[in-house]
Amino acid sequence: MSLMRTTLIALSHNRALQNAIVRVPVSRRMARRFVAGEALADAIVAVEALNAQGMLATLDHLGENVAKQAEATAAADEYLIALDALSAAQARCNVSVKLTQMGLDLGEDFCYTNVARIVRKAADLGNFVRVDMEGSPYTTRTIGVYRRLCAAFANVGIVIQAYLHRSQADVEALIDEGIGHFRLCKGAYDEPPTIAYRERSRVTQALNDLTRTCLAPAARARGAYVAIASHDEEAVDYARAYAYQHDIPPTAYEFQMLYGIRRELQTALVQQGYQMRIYVPYGTHWYPYFMRRLAERPANLLFFLRALVGD
Ligand SMILES: Cc1cc2nc3c(=O)[nH]c(=O)nc-3n(C[C@H](O)[C@H](O)[C@H](O)COP(=O)(O)OP(=O)(O)OC[C@H]3O[C@@H](n4cnc5c(N)ncnc54)[C@H](O)[C@@H]3O)c2cc1C
Repeated sequence: MSLMRTTLIALSHNRALQNAIVRVPVSRRMARRFVAGEALADAIVAVEALNAQGMLATLDHLGENVAKQAEATAAADEYLIALDALSAAQARCNVSVKLTQMGLDLGEDFCYTNVARIVRKAADLGNFVRVDMEGSPYTTRTIGVYRRLCAAFANVGIVIQAYLHRSQADVEALIDEGIGHFRLCKGAYDEPPTIAYRERSRVTQALNDLTRTCLAPAARARGAYVAIASHDEEAVDYARAYAYQHDIPPTAYEFQMLYGIRRELQTALVQQGYQMRIYVPYGTHWYPYFMRRLAERPANLLFFLRALVGD
């Protein structure tokens, strides 16, 4: 992992920089490349446009690491409103939720109660909730809350980060328990080499290994379902080739990509008959999400810095 990436991810937690950056018009303009807008209505417009192009979506109300119970409750309330709006729009779109936005830092039981309200509402509307995965201090607790949710609800899935050494064992355990509903991604946080792979090629290999584990006949027989969430053509091609070789139809798994990233690849895969779900973030708390997107690609940072100087 490059020094620049490490620095940008560290800065994504910096309040002073956040206050400075979110005020600059050029930041807001650039963030709009990755964020559908600040209001729910903006996000619904984006989802409808994606649906019209044959793509599925998942809605993320931006926010993380809330410090007060009232903030977590309000964030969950926003998801209930969003689920109603998606239902009214007949959108083909589920929701993605971060547990630190639901109050994980304030207690696991409190967080569970909060997120369970969203999952229950989604179940009532025939919809689905994906639990996003955050930094490694939260991995065990996130999987713990996911297990509790699965004991009560059938409409919930989890994210697994391929860069973590533990992920293969986590995936195998969850498949064994019959709750293997996964989004596999590489991982967006800065993790130490003691617990995570840091070389790009090694992370891609780990992602491909997890894809194979989830698509294997034994896993699918236990109800496993996998979404490969990557813009890396090597990972996309690996999944397609494995599925083709094992007669797994494109409806038995899906690809997922982020709003505004590799749009041409998103379109091409849909045209070839693959399921593509786009992660659509919206809201005012876009700063940490935006910084992680800058960290993923040096060209994004250069573009941003040039625009800042010219602003
Ligand atoms: C639907 C979805 C949900 C996700 N959920 C989570 C989550 O819950 N937890 C988590 O830790 N991570 C999550 N991620 C982020 C993920 O972990 C990676 O950080 C991110 O997807 C970049 O990795 P990559 O697999 O696309 O491969 P990379 O090797 O990083 O990128 C492959 C290619 O994609 C393009 N690309 C990638 N990122 C960018 C960018 N920011 N801007 C422009 N082009 C880019 C470039 O062309 C690059 O060469 C999610 C990703 C997706 C797609």
